[in-house]
Amino acid sequence: QARREGVPSVRFDAAMAARAAERLALAARLRLALERGEFELHFQPIRDIGDGRIVSLEALIRWSPDNAGYVPPSQFIPLCEESGLIVPLGEWALAEAARCHGLLAERGRGEVAIAVNVSAVQFLSETLPQSLRALRETHALPRGALQIELTESAVLRSPESARTTMNELREQGVCISIDDFGTGFSSMAYLKDLPLDFLKVDRTFVAGVDSEERNAAICRALIELGHGLGLKIIAEGVESAEQLDWLRKHGCDQAQGYYFGAPGPLADLLRAW
Ligand code: C2E
Ligand code: CA
Ligand code: CA
Ligand code: CA
Repeated sequence: QARREGVPSVRFDAAMAARAAERLALAARLRLALERGEFELHFQPIRDIGDGRIVSLEALIRWSPDNAGYVPPSQFIPLCEESGLIVPLGEWALAEAARCHGLLAERGRGEVAIAVNVSAVQFLSETLPQSLRALRETHALPRGALQIELTESAVLRSPESARTTMNELREQGVCISIDDFGTGFSSMAYLKDLPLDFLKVDRTFVAGVDSEERNAAICRALIELGHGLGLKIIAEGVESAEQLDWLRKHGCDQAQGYYFGAPGPLADLLRAW
């Protein structure tokens, strides 16, 4: 009797079973994709709002199965997080970003950082500082070459171990951003105790910042909050000159979005620079 209490009383029907089988098949296919080298990184510039310089590039993963177009990350990252593949996939992304920074440096753009998205699962696996150290040695990366972007959930699941890991990263010269800031149901208490560098304001708040008073109110508050804590503010999803003007007037530090350019292969970016 006691042992049975732990068994969930979910009733599987045929449709649920089919969906589960589909997810398993996709998880296996993704594992194969990583072995076969079907993932690539695209890059989107992040610019200083004051002088327009490109200060960093955000690395965004793309999957191109059988070279038949790109599958967006929203369709496979969550499954990779569930299956654990996100750890080796995230390691691959960091290594690829390190390699690409080498290409930037060869082209005289070594001062530009590459920001890599790190999922909570990977961040909390606690191998990150070690992996980064190894990469920095292999690729002779200067301090500041790599940055990481974390969501609030990565931090909130375990603030103490998050802080330990962050301190180790900071010692290595790796800057840390909180991504999609303001979209989680977070307590903000963690902000004052953690060694952070940037807050990225989610694009849902940036959209209509120049025309909707509610979004403007939130952006003003986030910029003031971040600055009060000594952090720089990056606005995501900037799509118009009007939005950019608003952000400049209100002291936002950096911006990224289709207004400046969609993410693309590094070679395209270098050509257009
Ligand atoms: P994110 O980190 O919030 O990335 C920003 C997303 O906004 C990207 O979508 C980017 O292409 C899109 N974007 C950029 N500018 C604009 C704009 O002006 N307007 C609009 N509407 N969208 C814009 P993408 O590339 O589809 O990535 C989606 C999410 O997948 C990312 O959201 C991130 O959470 C995740 N992701 C991407 N690459 C990686 C990765 O290497 N590792 C992990 N763990 N997650 C990743
Ligand atoms: Ca991001
Ligand atoms: Ca984001
Ligand atoms: Ca996001």
